[in-house]
Amino acid sequence: MKSAKDAARFEGVKADEATARKLKLLKLSLTLAAPADPAESAEVTRIATAMEGMYGKGKYCPEKDRCIDLEDITRIMATSRDAKQLLDVWAGWHTISRPMKKDYVRFVELANKGARELGFKDTGAMWRSKYDMPPDAFAAELDRLWAQVRPLYLSLHAYVRWKLREKYGDVVPATGPIPAHLLGNMWAQTWDNVYPLVAPAGADPGYDLSQILKARKTDPIQMVRYGEGFFTSLGFAPLPQTFWQRSMFVKPKDREVVCHASAWDIDYVDDLRLKMCIDITGEDFVTVHHELGHNFYQRAYDHQPPLFRDSANDGFHEAIGDTIALSVTPEYLVKLGFLDKAPDTSKDVGLLLNKALEKIAFLPFGLLIDQWRWKVFAGEVKPEDYNKAWWELRRKYQGIAPPAARTEEDFDPGAKYHVPANVPYTRYFLADILQFQFHRALAKTAGCTGPLNRCSIYGNAAAGKKLIGMLEMGCSRPWPDALEALTGQRQMDATAILDYFAPLQKWLDEQNKGKPVGW
Ligand SMILES: [Zn+2]
Repeated sequence: MKSAKDAARFEGVKADEATARKLKLLKLSLTLAAPADPAESAEVTRIATAMEGMYGKGKYCPEKDRCIDLEDITRIMATSRDAKQLLDVWAGWHTISRPMKKDYVRFVELANKGARELGFKDTGAMWRSKYDMPPDAFAAELDRLWAQVRPLYLSLHAYVRWKLREKYGDVVPATGPIPAHLLGNMWAQTWDNVYPLVAPAGADPGYDLSQILKARKTDPIQMVRYGEGFFTSLGFAPLPQTFWQRSMFVKPKDREVVCHASAWDIDYVDDLRLKMCIDITGEDFVTVHHELGHNFYQRAYDHQPPLFRDSANDGFHEAIGDTIALSVTPEYLVKLGFLDKAPDTSKDVGLLLNKALEKIAFLPFGLLIDQWRWKVFAGEVKPEDYNKAWWELRRKYQGIAPPAARTEEDFDPGAKYHVPANVPYTRYFLADILQFQFHRALAKTAGCTGPLNRCSIYGNAAAGKKLIGMLEMGCSRPWPDALEALTGQRQMDATAILDYFAPLQKWLDEQNKGKPVGW
């Protein structure tokens, strides 16, 4: 905190480029700027801790002495096909955030005061200033990217709505927004859990990665070795010995741990660690690649001065491992000896639809969380309209509606972790866009001419060199420089997503013929 204030004092002072960039990064290092007044500073810290605590301890008690936590509820949301039960747990979880409302109002006041003391218009403007362009220009960039992918999202939405209506009947309107409780996820942010309800006939790829891994008796360490093996095949050095000694791969039997997968760089040099409770599934196989993306990025920029040891922007850090995971193609599985031969591309619609339910369905959600917070921090949305504005945005971007009546007693944004925990969310939207842009560029470097969803850069030194070159830059340069080093483009570009999903778009257009699109 103090260093951010000190850096603000140097505003306008002439310095060489690297020093000026370091001062700027210092000033932008916060997501919460506490006000200078000690009492107010203590208050905002107390509120932040209290809200996060409320979320962490949140439970829904359907009966007096039977309570379920978010882990239980998540499982029900993912697997239950009983609309009544889904509605019950959806509504139940959304009661945990009601008591946060008045805290959040005060939190916004105090956080804004701190941000203004640092010279920002408000906390939202402070967050948007981290992207090497004026805050308003950055917001316009997001709108532009969303406009590029929105037609694909509309097609997916229309198809899923129609299939859910087949399953659930009139609970799902023919032409309006989809009720939020039927998409397999508490926030309707990813829809892959309802894949079995919407799967195309005859699109079974003929293999199941989870089954293959289990049949081969893969253990958790071997799962991580596969991930490491992908990176070393590109020319990255193997992970240090300490990584294997100090990481956690298996849920310990004797104590409670946070199982949410995370990658760590303890000393900002080479004490890299992974913390994860690995299940032997295709999903965790992909997650390992995602997390190791963080570790290899951390390793690549460790020679930079301390303030430059970070990703080009926060979206980049999340995107790297996912970029690699896009290379986990049937052809890659053949190279690992998991499959004898890759299935014919005529089977790709199933794989692509499954991926779209995860990656395309997420985009509007990834965008709207901060659209809401930016308006709240800017005072455009007043406390008496918090919940109303939330649902207007969910309807506008996602085409989703609340499955039960809402009032301003409810504080539904607080039922999503990142709001009470005050974690900016735009990075996940950016990562979702960037990973496809990275993948397209690397696939081209690797000389892949087939469909983009079948390109794997495994073992390709030229692609590896490009990737390493960008990662090594850390945040020493504005992010468009890093983007250009890898892709040759200085602008983020969602057309790579359209390229990747082109076969699916064509198929969706056929399915949606004569059916309503939009809401
Ligand atoms: Zn991550």
